[in-house]
Amino acid sequence: MNKISSIHSDRNIEASQKAYQINEWFFSLQGEGMRAGTANLFLRFSGCNLTCNKEDEGFDCDTEFTSGRKLSLDQIVSELKATATQAEWVILTGGEPSLQIDDALIDRLHGEGYKIAIETNGTKEISPKIDWITVSPKTAEHTIRQKTANELKYVRAYGMGIPKPVVKADHYLISPAFEAENLPQRNLEWCIRLVKENPQWRLSIQMHKSWKIR
Ligand code: SF4
Repeated sequence: MNKISSIHSDRNIEASQKAYQINEWFFSLQGEGMRAGTANLFLRFSGCNLTCNKEDEGFDCDTEFTSGRKLSLDQIVSELKATATQAEWVILTGGEPSLQIDDALIDRLHGEGYKIAIETNGTKEISPKIDWITVSPKTAEHTIRQKTANELKYVRAYGMGIPKPVVKADHYLISPAFEAENLPQRNLEWCIRLVKENPQWRLSIQMHKSWKIR
C-alpha cells in the first residue's frame, strides 16, 4: 500500500470506529419552517453547548437531549434504514448537532442516498455540503458563526423583538414560543404583530404539537 492510500485507509478505519452520542431517531413529518409537512428521518444528537431558559432567552428549552447511546456510522445507517426504507431526507437535530457531525457522517449519509438537513443554534460553522440549513439563534448576534442559511428562525415570546440578524438566509421566520405543548395566546399575538410590522419575516408555528406527533 502506498503512503496516500494508507492515509485514506487509516481515515476510513477512524471514521468507522468513531462513535456519535445519539439521543433518538424516528420517522415523522417536519412540523415547522419552510419544509413543514414533509416526511423525514430525524436523528437527534445528545448534548448542547447552551442551556436556554426563560430568564435569559425568554423561553425554556423543551428538548430532552442529555440521554443517549454511542452509535458508530454503520449502526446509525442501519438504524435509519430499519426505521424507514422510503425516507429521502435526514434531519440532524439535537441538542446541538454541530458539536458532533463531521465529514465522515455527512459523506456516508449522502452515499446512502439521503439529502441532509440540519437544525442548529448557529454557534458553530456548518459544512456547506449540508443540503438544507436552519439556523435558530439563541445567543447574541456576535456569537453566531454560521452566517448563511436556507432559513433563519427566531423563537419569540411576548415582548421580545427581532434583532438585526448577522445570518443571510433565503427565508426569515418568527416562531412563537410554546410553554410545554401549549402556545400561549399572547406569544402568538405578539409574533403576528412582529410579522405585520416586519413583512420580510414569516410566521412559523410548531405544527407537530397540534398534530400530536413528534
Ligand atoms: S440551543 Fe436548542 S437544544 Fe440547546 S438548550 Fe437552547 S433550545 Fe435547547
